[in-house]
Amino acid sequence: MPPEPKTCRSCGRRIEWRKKWERDWEQVQYCSTACRRRGVAEVDVRLEAVLLERISRGRTAADPADVALAVADGDAAAAGKLAEPARRAARRLVARGEAEIVQRGKVVDPSMVKGAFEVRRRR
Ligand SMILES: [Zn+2]
Repeated sequence: MPPEPKTCRSCGRRIEWRKKWERDWEQVQYCSTACRRRGVAEVDVRLEAVLLERISRGRTAADPADVALAVADGDAAAAGKLAEPARRAARRLVARGEAEIVQRGKVVDPSMVKGAFEVRRRR
């Protein structure tokens, strides 16, 4: 039986066990070469912090696009580039048990979610 799946440290998606990792599964931290290169940069940590702060106030849900805009200091072009990093930040928070991702009020799988979503504090 394959071991339990892990979560990618960069994108927060589930890493399914593969045969090629048989010997070093314990060391696997990233789902892909791109994620290993990307890692978690300073801006990613800021995105997480802003996201967490927003969902910590009451019962509000946060839109990752708004978080990207805040971290980009209102610069729309820069925020566009942070849109995907903001979604990755949301998934990392889910992996740590600090948040959940919702679409139309329903909690969805962070590895499978497509399209716009909101992030809220884990309930
Ligand atoms: Zn990844």
